[in-house]
Amino acid sequence: MATIKETMKQLMGDEDEAGESCPAATQDITVNLKNRAKAINSADYGPENPDLPNTAFWKAKADQWEVSVEDAKQSRCGNCAAFNQDEEMLACIAKGIGSEGDAEEVIDEADLGYCEIFDFKCAASRTCDAWVTESDEDEDEDYEGQENSAMEGEDMEDKPKAMLVIKIGAKK
Ligand code: SF4
Repeated sequence: MATIKETMKQLMGDEDEAGESCPAATQDITVNLKNRAKAINSADYGPENPDLPNTAFWKAKADQWEVSVEDAKQSRCGNCAAFNQDEEMLACIAKGIGSEGDAEEVIDEADLGYCEIFDFKCAASRTCDAWVTESDEDEDEDYEGQENSAMEGEDMEDKPKAMLVIKIGAKK
């Protein structure tokens, strides 16, 4: 059975086999910014600075998902099934950052990964309306989202099942 990541790649028309090549957005900042803008405009990717309270942002997410603000805050890129922090992908991201900075440090500090839905480098502590995880029936050992560091120390067991769907374009 195809994993959710493989299914998403097929849905998004990405024909690259995993590991064969790096996604364009990891190597070209212009492509990355364009795809990131698409995530911001169509799925309200954010918040801009996750260290701030971002009260309005999380209230809007809670309303969108019909859950409490506290529950909404549990759904981040870091535990989204579309978030890719595979070794190969992190190597691609590091290669793209290249000599312009300490790639490892940048990746670690921002807890960067790759969004397989919008095709851009995203940070584990952010989220978007398209946040997705697998349903209980579909859970298998390929799902790695709950191991991500953004949610370290936080209890992901009580996540409302109503949030376990892709919500792109849902009415606000
Ligand atoms: S789809 Fe998932 S990984 Fe991509 S930006 Fe939204 S929450 Fe983050």
